[in-house]
Amino acid sequence: MRTTWLGAGFSGLVDLLMPLRCAGCDDVGTAWCRGCSRELGGLRHVERPLLEPGPPVYALGRYRGAARRAVLAYKESGRRYLAEPLAGHLAVGLRAITAEHQLDDDWWLVPAPSRAIASRRRGGAHMSRIAHRMAAALTASGCRTAVADCLITARRAADSAGLDAAERVRNLSGRVLVQTGRLPPPAAQVALLDDVITTAATVASALAALETANVRVAAVLSLTATAN
Ligand SMILES: [Zn+2]
Repeated sequence: MRTTWLGAGFSGLVDLLMPLRCAGCDDVGTAWCRGCSRELGGLRHVERPLLEPGPPVYALGRYRGAARRAVLAYKESGRRYLAEPLAGHLAVGLRAITAEHQLDDDWWLVPAPSRAIASRRRGGAHMSRIAHRMAAALTASGCRTAVADCLITARRAADSAGLDAAERVRNLSGRVLVQTGRLPPPAAQVALLDDVITTAATVASALAALETANVRVAAVLSLTATAN
């Protein structure tokens, strides 16, 4: 589509012309500085009533400060090159989960779904792009990892921004759908990936959808999570 192509080309041009600044602290000369990296360098358990019982759920950092700014810069401001460092953080996190739970080194990554309209606006499904970068990084380090981009959000789900917890659950329940042709193979060890966990409505809907397709998720890993 012409507008999409122009939009993508323009965004690429802006990337080239603007001096590189850290998405977290605005420091010049780097896309994501070492100091801000620490904000996504942890691995904390995320507890949400909606996700009990279920697989272990982790986030690399809190959804605040530099981490929040980086997620928003990547997702909403078109700084797509942030996929690389964000995927790197998630790869480190997944390796820590692998060790912690004594899991297999080989993973199938399932990115949380984006609404189709939001994906178009953002120039592609944002978690999918990160998942592919992450799979490449993990595979290069010896963990055979692949992406199963099998979740989509049904058309009638509204953008969840501005909705409270109960409204988000109502908005999303049954609206995350599985594309059966893209499922991971049977008995695959699956990690579900997301960018922000707030109420966990999206994760809960995604887990429910995967369960109906007999996909068992071994762990959920998000870049960030709110305090509760
Ligand atoms: Zn920084």
